[in-house]
Amino acid sequence: MSGYFSSPFPRRKSVGVDVGGVMVGGSAPVVVQSMTNTDTADIDQTVAQVAALHRAGSELVRITVDRDESAAAVPAIRERLDRLNVNVPLVGDFHYIGHKLLADHPACAEALAKYRINPGNVGFKDKKDRQFAEIVEMAIRYNKPVRIGVNWGSLDQELLTRLMDENNENGSPLTAQQVTREAIVQSALLSAHAAEEIGLGRDKIILSAKVSQVQDLIAVYTELAGRSDHALHLGLTEAGMGTKGIVASSAAMGILLQQGIGDTIRISLTPEPNGDRTREVQVSQELLQTMGFRQFIPIVAACPGCGRTTSTVFQELAQNIQEDIRRNMPVWRERYPGVEELKVAVMGCIVNGPGESKHADIGISLPGTGETPTAPVYIDGQKAATLRGPDIARDFERMVADYIER
Ligand code: SF4
Repeated sequence: MSGYFSSPFPRRKSVGVDVGGVMVGGSAPVVVQSMTNTDTADIDQTVAQVAALHRAGSELVRITVDRDESAAAVPAIRERLDRLNVNVPLVGDFHYIGHKLLADHPACAEALAKYRINPGNVGFKDKKDRQFAEIVEMAIRYNKPVRIGVNWGSLDQELLTRLMDENNENGSPLTAQQVTREAIVQSALLSAHAAEEIGLGRDKIILSAKVSQVQDLIAVYTELAGRSDHALHLGLTEAGMGTKGIVASSAAMGILLQQGIGDTIRISLTPEPNGDRTREVQVSQELLQTMGFRQFIPIVAACPGCGRTTSTVFQELAQNIQEDIRRNMPVWRERYPGVEELKVAVMGCIVNGPGESKHADIGISLPGTGETPTAPVYIDGQKAATLRGPDIARDFERMVADYIER
């Protein structure tokens, strides 16, 4: 199953970075990460959300460290997670005063597995370089990697202005959009170079350059990938809500991943008010799995239904199986290694039902309108049973559970 759709492009070679035991880049699989939206100073809520994101499959979780109270809470959050056996590395997201928070809270600096620095807001004018250097020195002292995370919305204005001026002096061969893209790339590369000059190893640096438009993201990361061998964190910033955010992120990152670019991804979805934060983890996993790069969870193939299906039995069955799988995966993953490779098919009628079911590990073809009310079940490509009567759905769910146990 794995690699079925694998990319025709070789994966870009990057220097691997160990983030608290999770490798990013090098030859490691693309890592899924996410970020909390709790106030980090609220230890209970932050622990609960980190645990939920990790349970959903997030391999790294980033938390905001914006003030003394949140920095002071980080060691307690780490301890509590360890006690709960939630061994996910925590990444600290720093802006403006990261240098001060890390210096004033050594236990926080120790508890975090990585520091995220935004070179666009690490300080102002003459203080900028010093404050950037202080965070890098802290990373060296605590032996932690950093992500140099450039963001379109907080781009280094001095650098942008200089590149705009140079472009004007040269007769404006580049559009303003092209100059901005170049400023984003240069901000990441110059910052990485500065960090290396201070003494941070290349195997301790991950780069990101987030923008909010799909074409900009593809252009910026393609350029960055060609001009450095640092591990890259992909993400479309401010991707938005619902299907818009999912489609935009998947389109941009899918194209980059297909070209072998990207070592870790975060899909930033704006959750519905009180919505499920773990949705972004699920979407990241589905993107990587759909493209054949990683296998996280059994695939449930279901046809869309059409005029040949007048009941909703098959949609309900497909949904129930999908939900059963998601609910049981944390236990199944430990109990049945390899279960994520499973493919289940739930089909609505005889047209494509038997064919698709035979290609799955276990599949059912439900009766469409006017067909004999029986449902053949295929296991490992062979017809294994014919279900009939009102309990077809329940019987098939039981057969799937039995198949997994076997
Ligand atoms: Fe319609 Fe049957 Fe095709 Fe499903 S398998 S979409 S029910 S024709």
